[in-house]
Amino acid sequence: MFYLVNVLIGRAVNELDRSFSYRTEDSTIQKGMRVLVSFGASKETVGFVIDTPKRIEEDLESYQKKTNIKLSPIKAVLDEKPLLDDTMIELAKEIASYYKANLIKVLQSMLPPALKPKDSSLHKGKQRTISFVKTNPEYSLPLSKREKELYDDVLKEKNGLRKSSITKKKTLSDLLNKGALKIEEVSASSLSEIICQTMVPYDLTIEQEQVYHSVIEKQGPLFLLTGVTGSGKTEVYIRLAEYYLKQGKGVIVLVPEIALSDQIAIQFTNHFQEAVAILHSSLSDRKKYEEYQRILNGEAKIVLGTRSAIFAPVNNLSLIIIDEEHSSSYKQDSSPFYDAIRVSEMRVKREGCKLLLGSATPRVQEKAQAQRGKYTELFMNKRISPNQEKEICFVNMNDSNNLDPRKSSLLSLPLIKAVEETLQRKEQVMILINRRGFSPVFLCRECQHVALCPNCDIPLNYHKRDDTLRCHHCGYQTSSISYTCACGSHTFLKLGYGTERAYEEISQFFPSAKVLRLDSDVSSNHVRKEILESFARGEANILIGTEIIAKGLDFPKVTLACILDADSSLRIPSYLSDERTFDLISQFVGRAGRQKLKGKIILQTYVPENPIIQMAARQDYDAFYQFEIEQRKQYQYPPYTHLTRIQIKGVDLEEVINASETIKNYLMVKIKGKRFNLYGPMTPYISHINGRYYRQILLKYKSEEEADEILSSLKSLLPEIKKAEVIIDVDPQDNA
Ligand code: ADP
Ligand code: ZN
Repeated sequence: MFYLVNVLIGRAVNELDRSFSYRTEDSTIQKGMRVLVSFGASKETVGFVIDTPKRIEEDLESYQKKTNIKLSPIKAVLDEKPLLDDTMIELAKEIASYYKANLIKVLQSMLPPALKPKDSSLHKGKQRTISFVKTNPEYSLPLSKREKELYDDVLKEKNGLRKSSITKKKTLSDLLNKGALKIEEVSASSLSEIICQTMVPYDLTIEQEQVYHSVIEKQGPLFLLTGVTGSGKTEVYIRLAEYYLKQGKGVIVLVPEIALSDQIAIQFTNHFQEAVAILHSSLSDRKKYEEYQRILNGEAKIVLGTRSAIFAPVNNLSLIIIDEEHSSSYKQDSSPFYDAIRVSEMRVKREGCKLLLGSATPRVQEKAQAQRGKYTELFMNKRISPNQEKEICFVNMNDSNNLDPRKSSLLSLPLIKAVEETLQRKEQVMILINRRGFSPVFLCRECQHVALCPNCDIPLNYHKRDDTLRCHHCGYQTSSISYTCACGSHTFLKLGYGTERAYEEISQFFPSAKVLRLDSDVSSNHVRKEILESFARGEANILIGTEIIAKGLDFPKVTLACILDADSSLRIPSYLSDERTFDLISQFVGRAGRQKLKGKIILQTYVPENPIIQMAARQDYDAFYQFEIEQRKQYQYPPYTHLTRIQIKGVDLEEVINASETIKNYLMVKIKGKRFNLYGPMTPYISHINGRYYRQILLKYKSEEEADEILSSLKSLLPEIKKAEVIIDVDPQDNA
């Protein structure tokens, strides 16, 4: 007697995307556990048991003889309990099948880093801490007037003051030396320790009540909530979570990015304390592991997190909430390319829970499906605190009256004037420019050649802070000082604008203003948060940044919000560029419009008549949807069709081209007589990244069932294509 165990090897290659049989006498081995096995040349590899072991009554020898298979033994079991239960493993199989992805990739996405089947050891991540200043109750000696003031400020805060928020550094260090104040390090990941404010529950507004009751009482199970910015969606999420928690049930809440949406994290922590697990990006691997265990054993019934939190092994899952459902961050842009909304729908079917999508600007695709009846539509049209009227000004950048090139080619005259006036009134300004770095083009003065990334063939961005030239695609960087053009010249022109240059120009223009900059070059979430909080406290006059400033906190003193190049994202060749531009601008306008003071919004644009820009400035989602859905129909884009993008990449261009042709020919035969369009192989927008050449084929089709069959057969062909890598992206974010 022995058990036959199907094991998936922990390596993500096409050839290994199937299970291999091993044997064991150990009856405790279960589906969902990790095991050590020998495979090929390696003596010990981590594998994953993906089916329930099958008991074989025969003795091993006769079984092997009969089947002509030699079974290797399982060498060790790594887990005491399954890491994933049956539901989750079957979900993983469904995802792998839908996205044509390797099952091991899906399992790796589901598990916290420390448990990924590829590495068995549990890494201890470094804990990040935040310094808090507290008073020392034992201290009794007299203090100077200044010292007393600071001491009292600290005393007022139950949990102390953040060290970084104290501006009187000298007084602080005196008090620390005397021993009147002391520093305490608080783990940054344990949010709950930092929070000191107690929240008084609101009475729900009528709209909030209605949404709350609909989700609980209506059959659903799919709901789409279109709720304007500031209508109080978060409060509804909290009440719903509370309702299910009281019944001992579980809830998952997804947000696009957690460090920035911290407000929601604080509210959930305050409300649910130990019952909530917050899965944010700056958690150490160890902390992620601990939170995973808390969820698994039912201690944390509510999970708040980013995309991958959709895989949280919540017991008795009753509701999934996806906030800002239009965010592109819900679709993973690398294998297994899953979309958290699609995965949610799979969980709804498997686990019988409900799904609530919320946004001020739902994805056009989801809205269309709602209108066809797939989702129950819910609305919240009223802001909790009505906005002041906002004045919206378009500045036409083609009009020479608006620019004085001797002053600036970036800042228009109306914008300069408005900033000056705002600063005079001691109010704050926010400026959005959606590109980081100093300038996107570094041009040789002698031969007019543009400095290109050696890996990607696209222009290198000049970053002034550290005098580097950087590729924003592959991360390549080199010193700009020692950079020499192929013609031998050392002199370059820096063309175009990024946040760094805008920051510099604005600082020069308004020398008395304190200016802060925020973009993804500010790598740590912690520093990003500090910048936002510092601006919120009024410690700076101007905040300039990329789209990350369009989300985030509310700034009560901002009365001027500017977008330097409103139409930059319209120029990206993708069927989603209208939608993205609309989301970005309307969200920025919405945020800017929250404060009590009367405000102004300036949009610098080369296409002031463009309907998308116009509708976004008015935050007119309904008009946008009507416009966009017509466009989609006319050009037959989703939701009228479905897309799959097939990327072919490799270091050898010729092999890439050959593989592309092979795939195209294969597909042409398969799609014959079916309602499919095949485009390509074409050279994508960026065709050479990180030393690899890219080609792509786009499939557009009506029937998902037909596509599923064709793509599955394509996938089984892939192990034969050796010299190029083929990547299938079902429902891609882009068609370019
Ligand atoms: P949304 O997520 O829809 O943009 P928020 O959830 O941020 O809106 O809510 C906007 C503001 O209204 C927040 O400051 C929140 O604390 C407040 N708020 C929410 N619900 C209520 C209520 N029922 N009564 C009073 N204030 C509320
Ligand atoms: Zn590059």
